[in-house]
Amino acid sequence: ARAARARTFAGPGHTRDGHLVQLLANIGDPAEAAPAARAGAEGVGLFRSEFCFLDRDLPPTVEEQVTAYRRVFTEFAGRKVVIRTLDSGADKPLHFLTADDEQNPALGVRGLRTATRSPELLTDQLEAIAQAAAAEDATVWVMAPMVSTVPETESFVAACAAHGLDVAGVMVEVPSAALLAGPILARATFASIGTNDLTQYTMAADRLLGSLAELSDPWQPAVLQLIAATCAGGAQQGRPVGVCGEAASNPALAVVLVGLGVSSLSMTPRALADVAAVLAQVDLALCQQVAQLALTAETAADARAVVRSRLPVLDELG
Ligand code: PEP
Ligand code: MG
Repeated sequence: ARAARARTFAGPGHTRDGHLVQLLANIGDPAEAAPAARAGAEGVGLFRSEFCFLDRDLPPTVEEQVTAYRRVFTEFAGRKVVIRTLDSGADKPLHFLTADDEQNPALGVRGLRTATRSPELLTDQLEAIAQAAAAEDATVWVMAPMVSTVPETESFVAACAAHGLDVAGVMVEVPSAALLAGPILARATFASIGTNDLTQYTMAADRLLGSLAELSDPWQPAVLQLIAATCAGGAQQGRPVGVCGEAASNPALAVVLVGLGVSSLSMTPRALADVAAVLAQVDLALCQQVAQLALTAETAADARAVVRSRLPVLDELG
């Protein structure tokens, strides 16, 4: 039954009572776009553009970028593609953008912060996105990584607008951005929560260190509370909040995220079918109930256990 379900997922994602939840794909290399579309993704919720240029010594030209981005836009014609501007640094250094003399790269000049040092790279990238989107008539949403403040949001939104890119959002992956979601979303069109980094920075636990797995856990109630704060900011401003970290691919956590108010979930394409199947069997009110239980748990283990006990449908996934 499981294999059959995996083959037959077709959007749109929804709860049993018809509340829509967009189910989107995370991709890196443009070659991943076609398989993501075949897996049933309603769009791309996170195109990690830095993956196109990881092995480069020199920055890509505008033309090279246009070619790469068009490959994704054409595959998802008529559907939303959220492209993230270069997220260089820490676990994903780009030779042409990342300083190699920082003592704490995870806390260094990474993500949108690199635009202060190399503004021309952001300008080139936005120009390439605009050209590629125009050529493919794409529905493009542009998003900045590692945003921490309101002024960073303002300058990113203004930079996008200068290229005619009107849908400009931010990733929420730093606790400060979650706490400032209201004012940030008064400026940005949308937010997408990166639970991998949000967990790392909330718990002060390196996401690459297996020995800290107990801390690097998006079920940690402190992380869930920051996700709830982000959703509250989105609701206050009438702006959509999605999740594009690994948490979105966990069916139990997906139910919690929907209950907290998240309206899209972006994940590795192979997870789409299971997440869709579980959501289709729960009502929104149940999502909200389990979300409150998880939010008020005192430990990650308690949060997991209480949610699992209320969702027998999860047992069918094995
Ligand atoms: C995240 O931090 O959750 C995220 C989606 O971005 P990345 O994993 O690329 O850092
Ligand atoms: Mg991240």
